[in-house]
Amino acid sequence: MAPSAADIAALDRAYVFHPFTALKEHERSGGPMIVRGSGITLEDSEGRTYLDGMAGLWCVNVGYGRPEIAEAIHRQALTLPYYHGFSSMSTDTPALLAERIVRAAPKGMAKVFFGNSGSDANDTQVKLVWYYNIARGKPNKRKIISRARGYHGVTLASASLTGLEGLHKGFGLPLDFVRHTRAPHRLWEAEPGMSDADLVASLAADLEAMILAEGPETVGAFIAEPIQGAGGVIVPPKGYFPAIREVLTRHDVLLIADEVICGFGRLGTMFGCEALDIEPDLITIAKGITSAYVPLSGCIVSQRVWDTIADAGERNGPFGHGYTYSAHPLAAAAALANLDVIENDRLLEAAATRGAEMRAALADSFGGHPLVGEVRGMGMVAAVELVAARTPATPFPPALKVAPRVAKAALARGVITRALPSSDTLAFSPPFVATSGEIAEIVGRVREALDAVADELARERALPRAS
Ligand code: PLP
Repeated sequence: MAPSAADIAALDRAYVFHPFTALKEHERSGGPMIVRGSGITLEDSEGRTYLDGMAGLWCVNVGYGRPEIAEAIHRQALTLPYYHGFSSMSTDTPALLAERIVRAAPKGMAKVFFGNSGSDANDTQVKLVWYYNIARGKPNKRKIISRARGYHGVTLASASLTGLEGLHKGFGLPLDFVRHTRAPHRLWEAEPGMSDADLVASLAADLEAMILAEGPETVGAFIAEPIQGAGGVIVPPKGYFPAIREVLTRHDVLLIADEVICGFGRLGTMFGCEALDIEPDLITIAKGITSAYVPLSGCIVSQRVWDTIADAGERNGPFGHGYTYSAHPLAAAAALANLDVIENDRLLEAAATRGAEMRAALADSFGGHPLVGEVRGMGMVAAVELVAARTPATPFPPALKVAPRVAKAALARGVITRALPSSDTLAFSPPFVATSGEIAEIVGRVREALDAVADELARERALPRAS
């Protein structure tokens, strides 16, 4: 007899070690078990439905249930499920995919090294920076500067790059080759009334001071997401990346653009680099490359970095890095089908248009709310940051868990949003195929959730200035 939904839920609580989960609480009470999806709607094992306002983890960009991708995976599994790329062996779909990625990438990009997750791709980036600098006779250029609130993954190197305390606590991280500079977060980093130009100048000056204090001969790279995702959907002030690039170029420091969320349309452009005027040396991709139908990531490497690494290979022998699943033919087939869907259905335009609608609806619904400090975003990604008081901006005591409570109240109303870990911020990052009606539903139900939590806080007398 097939196990019932309740039996399977019990197995989950008993045997699955969940990522980013309150472990004991999950053992006690579990959570929704998602069993199917179509468009932007998910269904759980109890038959409840949810509008997925987060595209999974910012990744199911073309929506659930696309037959084009499922069929491409099926065909590839029957033809050739797997062969590797070590020792000059090749398969066809990664070759087709790499050319397509390089063609779409910012100028100067030359090669793609494939991996399986954003985290392992950022680990690879660190190794590429080290290999490149050793090859150039600058072996001490090993430090990587990242930013507070940056999210770059959870492996040893990428968790260290991540600028969120929760990923370090309990693990003895970050490792000592990482430094963190300020996030370009206007709400908390700008003086009252500060112009964009002054904020940019102050952030660039701080970065340069850090490089000089560490010694430029010890700093190899700077890593940044175009828009910081998990750290708060932080849109940098105008002119930020050109100013940062100038500092990096002056001190011979590489720029890694972590496009794991922004790449493949999230900002309404193929890459976030286009939208934010970034000139990278290395680019990290994952998530949207396959819309998460199967795991795939990559490091896009510029011609300049490639030339140095390939020349060093003449002395060092074969490049000593790679995964069993690097350049996996089935993942590449899924990615090719996903890129076809994005192109054929004009989903970059959809992300730009629906995204603008979403941001306008959020600003309209939340902008004047006394518990909202800022509504921000770009393309099809946005955030509502909640504060105890607006002027001056005052955070809630973390113990109140305000954003998680709102996300929970939204879930109970059939909408998935995400409470981000570093402050009380709700994120919105739906699939690009969301309709105007679905966007309105998401915004409306989250507003109801916020009102319900605000009432609760007022009853608990937890707020200095509750509405
Ligand atoms: N980089 C960024 C910008 C991300 O948002 C993430 C995941 O959310 C990662 C890297 C890590 O990717 P993964 O979870 O696939 O290891």
